[in-house]
Amino acid sequence: MTISLFNTYTRSLQEVTPLLDNQVKLYACGPTVYNYAHIGNLRTYIFVDILRRSLEFAGFTVNHVMNITDVGHLSDDADEGEDKVVRESRRSGKTVWEIAEYYTNAFFSDIARLNIKTPTTSCKATDHIDDMIRLIMKIEENGFTYSAGGNLYFDISKFPEYGKLALLSLDDLKTGARIAVDEQKKNPQDFVLWFTNSKFDRQAMIWESPWGRGYPGWHIECSAMAMRFLGDEFDIHCGGIDHIPVHHTNEIAQSQAATGKQPVKCWVHGEFLLFDKEKMSKSAGNFLTLSLLADQGYEPLDFRYFCLNAHYRTQLKFTFEALHAAKTGRNNLVLRIADIKEECDNTPTRVFGKKSENYWKEFVAHVCDDLNMPRCLSDLWQMIKETDIPANEKLALIEDMDNVLGLSLMDSVRKDVLLDEEITALVEEREKARKEKNYQRADEIRGLFVQKGIVLEDTAAGVRWRKK
Ligand code: AMP
Ligand code: ZN
Repeated sequence: MTISLFNTYTRSLQEVTPLLDNQVKLYACGPTVYNYAHIGNLRTYIFVDILRRSLEFAGFTVNHVMNITDVGHLSDDADEGEDKVVRESRRSGKTVWEIAEYYTNAFFSDIARLNIKTPTTSCKATDHIDDMIRLIMKIEENGFTYSAGGNLYFDISKFPEYGKLALLSLDDLKTGARIAVDEQKKNPQDFVLWFTNSKFDRQAMIWESPWGRGYPGWHIECSAMAMRFLGDEFDIHCGGIDHIPVHHTNEIAQSQAATGKQPVKCWVHGEFLLFDKEKMSKSAGNFLTLSLLADQGYEPLDFRYFCLNAHYRTQLKFTFEALHAAKTGRNNLVLRIADIKEECDNTPTRVFGKKSENYWKEFVAHVCDDLNMPRCLSDLWQMIKETDIPANEKLALIEDMDNVLGLSLMDSVRKDVLLDEEITALVEEREKARKEKNYQRADEIRGLFVQKGIVLEDTAAGVRWRKK
């Protein structure tokens, strides 16, 4: 099985061939822990999980490292504004350590609910300040830095390859696409490696360093921790596309300035989740969390299923209608699988006939083709609907396919009995769907009622239901 991924650095598909035997070294940028992760962030972590599961599916072991940013991420990625964790601490009256711990726990709880595998190593920036200082010293020794106004900067003019990942042109570099430009910088894209000139009161997190008491820039943490756990060169680095022009561009510059080697063989980036036509983001205030979805009756796996319906390199618009369709789709899948389980007494078999073989080949090809999850889901559905594949073969295919999809399909049980309030809610939903001419949804609900032996009656007071 050969997996190809789209490498942002070369803008082309690249086969995964690990540097070390059968082990893929994977680094994924982790969360900044000053608030709950929004579902846009979570789309990116679902993409990373699909990537990891697909690599494991192809027979690799994956050494997956993820950082937790608990210091140094300013409200603007390019050194402007205030440290996000410090700002939240000021707002809430809690200490920075309390804030970071609380939201780190919330993040791990969210990813567990989404069936996202925990990284092999999760590392907090504040536990690796020494690694960052040592790395900055190397960059300084190699002549890539300057001091100004109390901060230590990376000098991009010393690194001719700067901006290659983002295809930044010379003009981009000259003018600087930033809103505000630090007066101390020689070039707008120069960035801070170490702040000693703490701009803010109550900067609680500060450390001694060769450049004075202060704290690290945000970008250096990923270079330092990737190097610490994966070495100077590793296989795959991923994150959301917003990281291409600044964060990952700066990471390459720092790591290469220190070691003289290109740190990453393949850069893989996930597209945005949009909400109201814009990128979902905390700063724009247009964000939803997993708990808010739960309040509206949606399970975390409904959101996972929703994400799997789009390729990771395409933008995905979030609407509640689309999430609802995903919920219905997943429910139907669960019902079908419950039937298949019943039919074969819950016993999968892997002695495949020709049809099963063909579905398997298609599925594998779609995983290997840059993680084409929408096609994988459609392979699963078509196979399930096939009339002449024995149930025990179907169940084996479902189990194996779910190793990549991560939808807990083998745990799915039919909810045989609908609770009265669930029926009432569905009756209302069906009425609403009919008024809105959404006959597909209305029919789905009617079909479910037929299956469950629920009869609808029109009365003067509206639609009533009773059990047969
Ligand atoms: P942060 O916690 O801000 O560092 O972001 C965590 C991850 O979420 C990063 O990989 C970002 O690129 C990604 N991200 C941020 N906003 C979105 C969005 N609207 N859709 C998808 N991914 C996002
Ligand atoms: Zn990072």
